[in-house]
Amino acid sequence: MILKTLQPYTNYFVPTIPRTPTNRYASIVLLRETKSYAIFTTEGGEQQDVEEVPAGLTHAEPTTRLVMFKRKQVAPERRTGKALLRQYGVFPYAIRDGRVLYGEEAAQIQNHYDDCYLTEGLCTHCPDCLIYGYAAIEAEGARKARLMTDTCFTVRPYEIIQKQVKFNVIDEARHTSGTITEYDYTTPGVFLPAVETTVDLTADEFTYVLGNVLRTTRYGKEGTRQGFVRNHILAIAFSDVELFANLEFTQALYDAFVDAGIDLAADGLTLADFQQHAEAVIQRLTGQLTGRLTLVTGEELAGILEDVRALNQNEERLAGFLRDLNTQSASFVV
Ligand SMILES: [Zn+2]
Repeated sequence: MILKTLQPYTNYFVPTIPRTPTNRYASIVLLRETKSYAIFTTEGGEQQDVEEVPAGLTHAEPTTRLVMFKRKQVAPERRTGKALLRQYGVFPYAIRDGRVLYGEEAAQIQNHYDDCYLTEGLCTHCPDCLIYGYAAIEAEGARKARLMTDTCFTVRPYEIIQKQVKFNVIDEARHTSGTITEYDYTTPGVFLPAVETTVDLTADEFTYVLGNVLRTTRYGKEGTRQGFVRNHILAIAFSDVELFANLEFTQALYDAFVDAGIDLAADGLTLADFQQHAEAVIQRLTGQLTGRLTLVTGEELAGILEDVRALNQNEERLAGFLRDLNTQSASFVV
């Protein structure tokens, strides 16, 4: 049951999960915006992750930017999707004689799947496993992800989007102030432009990925200090070639803001600034593409997003959708 608003684009998706690549790319062009203080570090890191890179493509002076690694973007979205599969009754499921069974019927079969979780308990047959991939699992081999992204970078320099905060930890037993801990935070209202490129997904698999992006709101250092991040979708692009790197997207936006006379050191950036410049920036980055491109923005994009929201708001429809999706992936035999 392909979403009505995605039907005009059926040719850009695969009808069934393919055995070999056909390079049908559907890219989600988005902005990740911090809506609270957040910490972006690799495990155990005290300082946030930064990188010195050319500020723009034309304005190429070096600048230091906050970075969000690929795993920090995709892992929370995978967890969102997996929790949804659990909540809406995809588990337990079983595969028997090429048929996919659920509930009581599945539970009675010896080799049924009760759950699927990162990183040790991947079931290798559910939509998450088939879309996002998995590393080598005994007797199952490995599966390459059909979703690609890379590190994303802030537009504004690190120095002005970061804040050191000191905490005085009070010892309750002794009524004394104990250790002073200092944290390095990203401030609210910081934008990280990104592209998530899906390759050879069915239209329903794409709907699942888009839902995960729209539902996920917690990114950054795992545990209680994760920050609230709002994802804003700027465009969906269908192509037969990859579009651009996240860094190029950030750099082209930087050029556009500087050329528009925005002082990035003094002025904050708003969502409206990005929305105003995004389309021209995407056009600039894809103008020399060695391949075809269909860009979906404006009302068509709003229609697709509304369709995805409506599906996610309807418990019964969503449960049916997720089970059908799982039936498609579990029926896929390598
Ligand atoms: Zn799985």
